[in-house]
Amino acid sequence: MQKAVIIGSGIGGLATAIRLAVKGYEVTVFEANDHPGGKLSEINLDGFRFDAGPSLFTMPQYIEELFSLAKKDTATYFSYHQLKKNCIYFYEDGTTITAWADEDKFIAEITQKTTENSSSIRRFLAKSKTIYTITNPVFLEKSLHKISTYLHPNTWLSMFRLPQIDSMRSMNRANESFFSDARMVQFFNRYATYNGSNPYKAPATLNVIPHLEHHFGAFFPKGGMYSITKALYQLALDIGVSFQFNTKVTEIALDETCKKVTGVYIGTTKILADVVVSNMDIVPTYRKLLPTQKHPEKLLNQERSSSALIFYWGIQKEFKQLDVHNIFFSANYKTEFEHIFDKKDIYNDPTVYINITAKECKTDAPNGCENWFVMINVPNNSGQNWDDLIKIARNNIIEKLSRLLKEDISSLIIAEQILDPRSIETNTSSYLGALYGNSSNNTFAAFFRHANFSATIKNLYFCGGSVHPGGGIPLALLSGKITADLIKKR
Ligand code: FAD
Repeated sequence: MQKAVIIGSGIGGLATAIRLAVKGYEVTVFEANDHPGGKLSEINLDGFRFDAGPSLFTMPQYIEELFSLAKKDTATYFSYHQLKKNCIYFYEDGTTITAWADEDKFIAEITQKTTENSSSIRRFLAKSKTIYTITNPVFLEKSLHKISTYLHPNTWLSMFRLPQIDSMRSMNRANESFFSDARMVQFFNRYATYNGSNPYKAPATLNVIPHLEHHFGAFFPKGGMYSITKALYQLALDIGVSFQFNTKVTEIALDETCKKVTGVYIGTTKILADVVVSNMDIVPTYRKLLPTQKHPEKLLNQERSSSALIFYWGIQKEFKQLDVHNIFFSANYKTEFEHIFDKKDIYNDPTVYINITAKECKTDAPNGCENWFVMINVPNNSGQNWDDLIKIARNNIIEKLSRLLKEDISSLIIAEQILDPRSIETNTSSYLGALYGNSSNNTFAAFFRHANFSATIKNLYFCGGSVHPGGGIPLALLSGKITADLIKKR
């Protein structure tokens, strides 16, 4: 049996492991941490449970596909349901908008609360759908780096429609052309943060993202986001994948010509493999695991996505006006992004996101309490004085939430843990603590993500959020599909 080694058990690594096991490989996953999931992990703190990283679940069909490939019933491992409210938005001027999953209800809410009419929203959602239908088959489901992709008839069809993907202007510029009410421009600009980008620089092609949420829906996995990791880990075990935790791969082993992979090193121990897939961030994969090889510097030096500062707060009160996903917008979005991407510090009025899984899963917090995952977007790590920045940001967040929720939040915090760009980097080897690999702040960003294979070393592959097609759970899962498709069936 041919042997495959996967370095890392992030969501991309788990998806690749399952797909290769289905293809008949003997798969071993080496994971540096003592648990699977990478960024998709959980925290238990003083009776509260928190999802540590991702909180928004879209495109469950990519998870379902793994169970059907393995000929297993999804329901015995994993269940989820669609949320009725995608998110509640709070603006500094007092406006509150509920983004209902039901499109007509959502449009009615916007026309009632803002000066927009229904046709501008419908026009925008239709555009979002068009971008999805053009980009999905080419940019998301196939390797951009294989000639076969460009010979496929679907690619040709998409190529003819490329002008429609709106890549030559910024997302903000496009949104200003769709909407006259600044609140709606800010509402849809926020989707750039779903892959850690800046809406004032990222191409309007990113307006594809609202389609994933508003058309396909936002979902809640029973037991919280970490149940995705648990389900995929169990599925992998059940189809014969083996895992070694607390086991850091220290180098990728090559043959004497350095043109073919022969396995990996765990310290001085060599593990032989026919195929190696790195789910470790692409930058440390080259810098640490392939130290003597030529590195693709241009790709590795692309601008990285933003990072995050998260306060996991146990709150001794229930807030009826909040839901699972809540956003408290800053009054000046442009300035906020200048701080994140240009000044590389934290704006004093950050947009605050609160995720409360206890709204759906009562056992995640003690009676009468809520588990608040409070996140702001921050720059990636370039050696800032994070301890000072965190202290100031914490005060600003508490002041903002207390004012908008009309309640002294600081007195309600009974448990606290913090995650910042430094700990994100330490916990999962994410270069600079970036959440989504490279940013998408320029028109050609998609072409500057590393391919899912090595062009110089045979049988070496890459998956996960730092390579094609990009970060976020759906794309990391798709990277597993593209990678496994590139590897021959045994
Ligand atoms: P990672 O999660 O990066 O895991 C890589 C794994 O490799 C880790 O377990 C690491 O320990 C292991 N590893 C690294 N080096 C080695 C080595 N040498 N040897 C062995 N093992 C190694 N996405 C969404 O879709 N929705 C969201 O709401 C969302 N919110 C987010 C919020 C936060 C705070 C964070 C951090 C991320 C968020 N994301 C979100 C992004 C999403 O979590 C990631 O894009 C995705 O989980 C990345 O998966 P991955 O496959 O790249 O692996």
